[in-house]
Amino acid sequence: MVEEFVFVIRASTSYSIGIGGVDPASAMLAPLYTDVTLKAYRPQVLVTLPIFRLFSAKAQIGIMAHEIAHAERASRLGQGWPEKMQARYAAEERLANSIAIRWGFGKYVEAMRRNRHGSVNPMLETRGPAIVHRALEQTRRRREEFCRAHPEVAK
Ligand SMILES: [Zn+2]
Repeated sequence: MVEEFVFVIRASTSYSIGIGGVDPASAMLAPLYTDVTLKAYRPQVLVTLPIFRLFSAKAQIGIMAHEIAHAERASRLGQGWPEKMQARYAAEERLANSIAIRWGFGKYVEAMRRNRHGSVNPMLETRGPAIVHRALEQTRRRREEFCRAHPEVAK
């Protein structure tokens, strides 16, 4: 059932920056929109590599089991799953872990939790501001390059 539900697994090589700073998510089940009206979408697992890589190999298995468990839940919720899951975010997080544990990934889920609280979150708290600063600098440089290359659209 789950194999038929997840459409694609994609990986981002850069951090995701939001209003609150660096997004700490290592991976997520997210809708991949297939039209501009945002009405049609397919399920994707989106891995944020710079965060994912902060976890041990064992914890990474836990992360993927957790995401596939979200997909199992989403496939049961059916149409409108992104909104339904977002509305009960904390409960869905707990459920994904318990499904992954039921599948036999208990020690991997435990490694994921240990890494998250023991090293990943503390590291992101320390380095977060520098990561955000670098991302903003990169965006600024890219904009300048674009404007140099396309003086006709740059104002
Ligand atoms: Zn989750």
